[in-house]
Amino acid sequence: MSTIRFSALQETLNRKPVKIVETERRSVLFGQNVFNKYAMQQYLTRAAYESVMNAIDKGTKIDRKIADQVAVSMKDWAISKGATHYTHWFQPLTGATAEKHDAFFESINGSLAMEKFDGEQLVQQEPDASSFPNGGIRNTFEARGYTAWDPTSPAFVYETTLCIPTIFVAYTGEALDNKTPLLRALQAIDYHATAVCKYFDKNASKVNATLGWEQEYFLIDDALATSRPDILMTGRTLLGHISAKGQQLDDHYFGSIPARAMSFMQDLEQECMLLGIPVKTRHNEVAPNQFELAPIFEEANLAVDHNALLMDVMHKVSTRHHFKVLFHEKPFAEINGSGKHNNWSLSTADGTNLLSPGKTPMKNLQFLTFFINTIKAVYENEELLRASIASASNDYRLGANEAPPAIISVFIGTQLSAVLDELENVTKGKLSPEEKTDLKLNIIGKIPEILLDNTDRNRTSAFAFTGNKFEFRAVGSKANCAIPMTVLNTIVAKQLKEFKVEVDTLVDTKNLKKDEAIFNILREYIKASKKIRFEGDGYGEAWEKEAKKRGLSNNKTTPEALQVKVAKKTIHLFEEMEVMNRVELEARYEIDLEEYTKRLQIESRVLGDIARNHIVPTAINYQNTLLENTKNLKEVFGDDFKNIAKEQIELIMIISNHITEINSLTLKMIDERRKANKLEGLKSAEAYNKKVKPFFEEIRYHCDKLETMVDDNLWPLTKYRELLFTR
Ligand code: ADP
Ligand code: MG
Repeated sequence: MSTIRFSALQETLNRKPVKIVETERRSVLFGQNVFNKYAMQQYLTRAAYESVMNAIDKGTKIDRKIADQVAVSMKDWAISKGATHYTHWFQPLTGATAEKHDAFFESINGSLAMEKFDGEQLVQQEPDASSFPNGGIRNTFEARGYTAWDPTSPAFVYETTLCIPTIFVAYTGEALDNKTPLLRALQAIDYHATAVCKYFDKNASKVNATLGWEQEYFLIDDALATSRPDILMTGRTLLGHISAKGQQLDDHYFGSIPARAMSFMQDLEQECMLLGIPVKTRHNEVAPNQFELAPIFEEANLAVDHNALLMDVMHKVSTRHHFKVLFHEKPFAEINGSGKHNNWSLSTADGTNLLSPGKTPMKNLQFLTFFINTIKAVYENEELLRASIASASNDYRLGANEAPPAIISVFIGTQLSAVLDELENVTKGKLSPEEKTDLKLNIIGKIPEILLDNTDRNRTSAFAFTGNKFEFRAVGSKANCAIPMTVLNTIVAKQLKEFKVEVDTLVDTKNLKKDEAIFNILREYIKASKKIRFEGDGYGEAWEKEAKKRGLSNNKTTPEALQVKVAKKTIHLFEEMEVMNRVELEARYEIDLEEYTKRLQIESRVLGDIARNHIVPTAINYQNTLLENTKNLKEVFGDDFKNIAKEQIELIMIISNHITEINSLTLKMIDERRKANKLEGLKSAEAYNKKVKPFFEEIRYHCDKLETMVDDNLWPLTKYRELLFTR
């Protein structure tokens, strides 16, 4: 009998939901552990407060004296919240977050002690950067990188540590993290979007990108998860026969939340409230034990930090409830995977959403301007956008028929499509007064009403307009949002820059009015970017064919998808927008490839181990029982046994066959792995993709078949039905 599996099941069956007492209203808890404006006003001198606010709003530098003051106040505040340690909190290129805790405590003369934290410690730290991926930017022997305070994302206390969000850069200036390029991209979009906003409002001063992510995840009992080496090592199941009941009854989506999951959510939400993460929505997702959580959207940098923090907090809170959270994009075969929709928009300093139409024709034209420029940016850079969400784990999800395809297209709905079709017919050059009136009243004037009932939401599009924002749906559930957000904001910034040049040129050279020039350029953009617009079923095969005809990329695997990250055009784009230079881009490309290779290497090793050390011996074991049984039958029935033991004998043969296949396939896979390991960079990644990975499915097939034949009592791996339905 498989003791690990059965004791895990026993443990799970005995679980009770943890009782969560909600002592305070959420509005009271909200932000209590954040050094936000309110806390700063309480703790900082006026000068220090203003200096920090200027740094946040205008990007000005905070001078050293002020930094000392801020540090002391921040420390006092943190201690009042129970903190004993502080850490620079950053997002290295591992995709996770990193922290190294130092105590405030310092001893004086060996006998006295005090809590100390000064400006130097706040502003800059030097973690041993050599142990983080750097893609060759720094060699180990000159492990010189530093973290620097990012005042635009407020410090917070988590457990007993003051966490200070920071960027992580090499002394030579290159970014070693995901946040630095994001901040640069946000600066670029601010600059170029503000310039375009000035066409519509002379006083426009700032544009923020906004992000509202929706996080999908699975909750699996931790005893069950731990009983599976594949979940433990790779975050997903590498084998397992599908259970009789999966999601075919559609009975999980928006269903009532199971009690244990609910108490986890309540606990998590309280933590989120304290940390100022404005979570709002929770519900069951399509697959059994799959859930979603979404906050109110925020400024993009803060939203990215909050998502990274949330994932960390989810891991911690889940252990209190004896759950393991799976963020992997495809933890279970034949069951929906998880994504992280990135809802994105642009917003002015006063909170006006630029992707939401306004009350006047001018505001509607502003909406159209940002709307159409975004579509054009996506068209021009669809391949790069695809690359921004590429990962070994997301490859298992994209293109499967429940997830967006690897093709990027934009869905806008039939009514907005009709508006764009009409705008396409706007006269070239000067507009007659009648035409202008018609445009203002009958076309763009109608947009607000159109958007009010923009109900035809297409769930199969990778990039959909959903009334007042675009929703980038292909982002993986495990991903750090900073990466797609950096690309999206950079490409839109570049597009807006081009737009402004073109409009200004028409105004200057063709003597057109500003709005005429805008209509003229938008008309050309609508025509030029038509190929990216698709309103049909994105999951269908027909779309793949159609997309190919249109010349859209369809890079199904990460090694293919990553190529564009170091293409000439890309380097030029990022350098022009001052988001990343060639060295930084090439480093990231190397790291992405290496990460891909390593993930597949680990999966391959784990699969080989399970197949040969768990499955095959179990099958042999069961086969022996069958052999014993046939022998006994022979003894009792003599020559008649052949008829009586027919089924057993057949089963013995079938099992033998699967065992042989598993052994030979595994050996072949190991051989391919050896060859792939001798290669480097792209070659190695490609070998893993094309030569090693195909064995996964084949080996799995035989193991899963055995699962349906071997005595359930002997089966060593916790089964799908147990992982997904034990509550
Ligand atoms: P859905 O039907 O997809 O749940 P919602 O309107 O509730 O639609 O929004 C889903 C997500 O979109 C939420 O996470 C929300 O925070 C985000 N969102 C809404 N407006 C914006 C915006 N202007 N910018 C960025 N994200 C937004
Ligand atoms: Mg959504």
